[in-house]
Amino acid sequence: MNYFIHTYGCQMNIHDSEKIAGILEGMGYKPCDNAEQADIVVFNTCCIRETAEQKIYGHIGALKKLKKSNPNLIAVVCGCMSQQEGVAEKIRTSYPFVDIVLGTSNLNLLAKAIEDVGKKKRFVNTDFLCYREEDFMQSRTSFPNAWVNINYGCNNFCTYCIVPYVRGRERSRPIDDVLKEVKDLVAQGYKEITLLGQNVNSYGHDIGDVTFSMLLREIGKIDGKFRLRFMTSHPKDLSQDVIDAIASYPNICNNIHLPVQSGSTEILRKMNRRYTREDYIALVDRIRDKIPDVGITTDIMVGFPGETDRDFEDTLDLVRRVKFSSAFCFVYSRRKGTPAYSMEQIPYAVKKERITKLLACQNQVTKEISATMVGKRYEVLVEGANFRYKNTMCGRTESGRLVNFQCDESQTGQFVTVQIERASSATLWGVVTEEK
Ligand code: SF4
Repeated sequence: MNYFIHTYGCQMNIHDSEKIAGILEGMGYKPCDNAEQADIVVFNTCCIRETAEQKIYGHIGALKKLKKSNPNLIAVVCGCMSQQEGVAEKIRTSYPFVDIVLGTSNLNLLAKAIEDVGKKKRFVNTDFLCYREEDFMQSRTSFPNAWVNINYGCNNFCTYCIVPYVRGRERSRPIDDVLKEVKDLVAQGYKEITLLGQNVNSYGHDIGDVTFSMLLREIGKIDGKFRLRFMTSHPKDLSQDVIDAIASYPNICNNIHLPVQSGSTEILRKMNRRYTREDYIALVDRIRDKIPDVGITTDIMVGFPGETDRDFEDTLDLVRRVKFSSAFCFVYSRRKGTPAYSMEQIPYAVKKERITKLLACQNQVTKEISATMVGKRYEVLVEGANFRYKNTMCGRTESGRLVNFQCDESQTGQFVTVQIERASSATLWGVVTEEK
């Protein structure tokens, strides 16, 4: 019996798919390369952008044909899209060949749902049940990297964002559970562990007596050669204590993903981000003061309702000033059910022009940073082959920059020293050297 999982969206979903794979493997299923070879197909969906959602409906629709040729195929839709209001019902009525619909917080019901389908019953349930990670196995697919959830959901309600509606309110995992998972991963030989949460900085506020900086310090004390990263940090919650913890422990990477979203205080206010442009710049200064070689990455949105040319210029100015090592730049996508949905929208042509300018601006910044790295040596964790290039391996520096180089594939999971030889904007090329 084979399974195939189609994962859409962010790292949180990719990690959820590892949990789904773990449940299926625990039931005796084996992974396969495509839906045609599968006995169970899972769509782990995303709803952050409207275009992604339309594409997913198209992919689900295509299953109808597959079901005709293989009537025993089990079709599952889960994740953020199915958690949106009205979507589970739409799938139930308009896609009768879908057997199971689950939400974001009840993956633990998957085994029971498959049993029901075996008894010719459809299973549709999007209740928020808040499973425990420890209740089922995970099938990790990213060695030497591993992902560890520390909190789920979000309380921030940025006015453009659908996440709090589909992932629920913030819930932190008990610190002992997180520490045990990290220690086990280190003992199993994983070399880079990334803590995951919609807003990792607010970890612990709902369970009392623990904070994110305490968690970082506890992980920092774990013996063994490994790196720790975390994402995502909300700028309003990144405390001095967290900055100090990063600076104090060598195994906590000097890399912070700090979504700014806009460089205009007025737009930030409309987004309900609860910091100003000046707050953000001051925070970056504080981080750089304590961690001089830090790599700061970000998310930036253009075309939020009401964004004027002046607001957009402020964003470009902030990008030049802060010098992000990289930025995920995207166009605002209107999501039903969020406050920004009913705000006055920006014409598509304006958004398109702005995203082109923003990408050019960030590319220039990245290129300048890359040029300063040429000739220097960095410790890099070998992550595996870079299939875009022949005979090329890749890995990341501590600050999160991707480097291409040549070494034996068997060195995957090892730390090597790489001297950077050339750079083309975002891509660095280097050679493995003996000494640092
Ligand atoms: S912090 Fe804002 S953008 Fe991030 S998940 Fe929460 S509501 Fe969405």
